[in-house]
Amino acid sequence: MTKITIARGDGIGPEIMDATLKILHAAGAELDIEEIEIGEKVYLRGNSAGIEPKAWDSLRRTKVFLKAPITTPQGGGFKSLNVTTRKVLGLYANVRPCVSYHPFVKTKHPVMDVVIIRENEEDLYGGIEHRQSEEVYQCLKLISRPGTEKIVRYAFEYAKAYGRKKVTCFTKDNIMKMTDGLFHRVFDEIGAEYPEIQKEHWIVDIGAAKLADTPEVFDVIVMPNLYGDILSDVAAQITGSVGLAGSANIGEGFAMFEAIHGSAPRIAGMNMANPSGLLLGAVQMLVHIGQQDVAGRIQNAWLKTLEDGIHTYDIFKEGVSTERRGTADFAQAVIDRLGKTPSLLKPVAFTNALSTFVNRPAARPAAKKELAGVDVFLQASGISPDDLAKAVSRASEHLLLQLQMITNRGTKVWPDGFPETFCTDHWRCRFKTGESMIGFPYQQVVKLLQQLNVANLDILKTENLYHFDGQPGYTAAQGQ
Ligand code: NAD
Repeated sequence: MTKITIARGDGIGPEIMDATLKILHAAGAELDIEEIEIGEKVYLRGNSAGIEPKAWDSLRRTKVFLKAPITTPQGGGFKSLNVTTRKVLGLYANVRPCVSYHPFVKTKHPVMDVVIIRENEEDLYGGIEHRQSEEVYQCLKLISRPGTEKIVRYAFEYAKAYGRKKVTCFTKDNIMKMTDGLFHRVFDEIGAEYPEIQKEHWIVDIGAAKLADTPEVFDVIVMPNLYGDILSDVAAQITGSVGLAGSANIGEGFAMFEAIHGSAPRIAGMNMANPSGLLLGAVQMLVHIGQQDVAGRIQNAWLKTLEDGIHTYDIFKEGVSTERRGTADFAQAVIDRLGKTPSLLKPVAFTNALSTFVNRPAARPAAKKELAGVDVFLQASGISPDDLAKAVSRASEHLLLQLQMITNRGTKVWPDGFPETFCTDHWRCRFKTGESMIGFPYQQVVKLLQQLNVANLDILKTENLYHFDGQPGYTAAQGQ
């Protein structure tokens, strides 16, 4: 018996959870189930996280969570329970297999078997956002080396464990040279440890286009959080229905399994929803907890059900489907086929579980970090770049740090800016010292800020410019 925690969630959640559990029990899954309440009711009781302390206790006890979708109430003040769960429990890897079931489920892509491995904790999902000036808002994109090493290694280990041939990485490192640049570099470094697996990198925009057009050329794809969020929905949808894909969220000690879709309130309580997404999430859970035989039995019976044309409304098609069934009857059809295997679709056989794999980023010697300058962000309206440069230079006269350039939303506007460049009220002023002074004390930045403040310049924030082992840890401006 393995202890697990379940939550029935909101909308179609209870129906698809009932259907899934019925199939798991009938297939002989050995589960000791604790149930927790999460989602809308908990939010509306005044808990802004949508989950109560006793629910966390259960998750700490069982460390395995099968979760139905929830509804996040409209309006401000409610935190995303999914993001909270992933971050609090350290569920760094989101694994979404997206497979087409041609000719039984209508799809433009008959040959598709892609696993998207999405980094789950970092990137823009830190939710660190600020309004900085009258006109400009910011969201911080944070990519860490250990976070990237963990997700990239997970992708290669996943490929190895499940006999996959190729791992592709999507980034936008032609633009985000530091953050996505790190992701790409780590992909190349760790990939070199897996000579038996093919590796490739695509810029995410053309990679996304290729995925939507020719998914058969991809196998495993690893991506930073935002790209993975968007493209895993695209990949699931083009297999035929978003209702067909399950997802695993894997951490060191914890794991959460779910459908990729939401609570579909429009069809809630109507016994219409396709339970397949949650069921395939549960299949991933069974593999994770070492009940591979049961997992295989369920997935094969489910494939046979699809092949027999027994379909829920979302995948029902005249001429292909034979019977349109509701949620509960679809589950019964799967139960009736336990022990059977599909004839045309590829049967599954799960042998390996990746859950035993320990993923620790390598210890690295700390780089020598030296202060090389500072970017000071100022708010100013109705001023030309040249006049701003004069005011800033005047305020920083006789200091070690001297104004090198001004940018507006990243585009250089001084010196030698273009008069055509549209400017907002949000300016970045880059101050540097001479090469020989690199490694100067922070006190020099404090002095600069004091003088800018005395000159009534409106300081929004600063960003220190460091060299790491002599390499600049910052980008040049566009237009430089
Ligand atoms: P959704 O995925 O719930 O539904 C979109 C549409 O997809 C539905 O109207 C339905 O036509 C179809 N669909 C989805 N699941 C289906 C299924 N199992 N069977 C058949 N058809 C299905 O997306 P939404 O309407 O944007 O979001 C509804 C709620 O779900 C929102 O409150 C949202 O915040 C929440 N949500 C929760 C999760 C989660 O808990 N993991 C994920 C996404 C959205």
